[in-house]
Amino acid sequence: MKTALVLGAGGFIGSHLVRKLKEEGFWVRGVDLKRPEFDPTHADDFLLYDLRDPKNVEAVMRLEGYKGHPLPCKYLPYPFSEELQFDEVYQLAADMGGAGYIFTGDNDANVMHNSALVNLNVAHEAVKQKVKRVFYSSSACMYPEHNQLDPNNPNCEESSAYPANPDSEYGWEKLFSERLFLAFNRNYKLDVRVARFHNIFGPQGTWKGGKEKAPAAMCRKAAETPDGGEIEVWGDGQQTRSFLFIDECVEAVLRFMRQEKFLGPVNIGSEEMVTINKLAELAIAASGKNITIKNIGGEEFETKYGFKCPVGVRGRNSDNKLYKEKIGSDVYYPLDKGIQQTFDWINKQVNKL
Ligand code: NAD
Repeated sequence: MKTALVLGAGGFIGSHLVRKLKEEGFWVRGVDLKRPEFDPTHADDFLLYDLRDPKNVEAVMRLEGYKGHPLPCKYLPYPFSEELQFDEVYQLAADMGGAGYIFTGDNDANVMHNSALVNLNVAHEAVKQKVKRVFYSSSACMYPEHNQLDPNNPNCEESSAYPANPDSEYGWEKLFSERLFLAFNRNYKLDVRVARFHNIFGPQGTWKGGKEKAPAAMCRKAAETPDGGEIEVWGDGQQTRSFLFIDECVEAVLRFMRQEKFLGPVNIGSEEMVTINKLAELAIAASGKNITIKNIGGEEFETKYGFKCPVGVRGRNSDNKLYKEKIGSDVYYPLDKGIQQTFDWINKQVNKL
């Protein structure tokens, strides 16, 4: 039986990945600070541990069972063997959130410190315990700001990463950790795969509380607003992005992880670029209501919220040439269909309150 360890398994992408790995017949251990928020985990073994502590990372990466194991891991992969190492490790754990969390500056130190500690521990321990392959989720936020000033023509080709100039500390940490995993590959032969995610969305993602991303925020606003009402969109709404539906993301990760030759970094995203106002319009259309958009920025925003409007770069789109060249066809699910599914799920959550 193949075994997988998913770090960050209580989070959005991690919990979907666990479900998919279970469907494929893997024995899966998930680790996180918290359990998945909306559904019980599908993992065989789910451990609540803080991966900033190297002792915890050492313990969760060991496949020995309960006896002699430093942590109370209740379930064993079958057939059990002292010799087992994880076949696949997915490192998704990170201190992160949407624009309101990573672009205001208030969480910069925590974002860098917490995520870097986790990544340092994971890379080191993966070598010590001879895990077979590690996937690391970087982010499009590591691309230089100066290539993303034109909303109609952003450059996010993998080769454009240097000279580096990410617009957030979150992006700088991602860049550091990409390099960390690749350095462990060169110096210690750690088999790694590094991908840069571009705005992943879908059901069971955070949808309120300040850590939600734009698609979830738009769907929530559309669900909460009565017919004939108005929703706020941060900034002038002309900033562009692309968004990849969660099922496609998981599929792209697994395809990338299971090919032998190419380590990355590679973009995993959609090339369907839209303005943020267009994204809001799709969420409104999904709600079937008649809602207007109010763009809010500058002084008006600052007076209302007490901080500068956190909009990020002007333009960003995934560039999938390299993925197609190295891995084969990329993944594609139309944005309006993904938004409809996400809206339907968020609408249910809103109506539960
Ligand atoms: P998420 O916040 O839902 O999941 C991350 C999980 O990591 C959380 O459940 C959190 O509790 C856990 N975590 C944080 N610190 C931890 C610690 N010290 N010990 C144990 N667990 C810890 O985020 P997500 O959207 O599922 O993203 C997964 C990964 O993909 C992250 O590394 C993120 O930076 C990256 N990424 C995501 C997106 C996106 O659009 N969702 C885009 C680019 C990159």
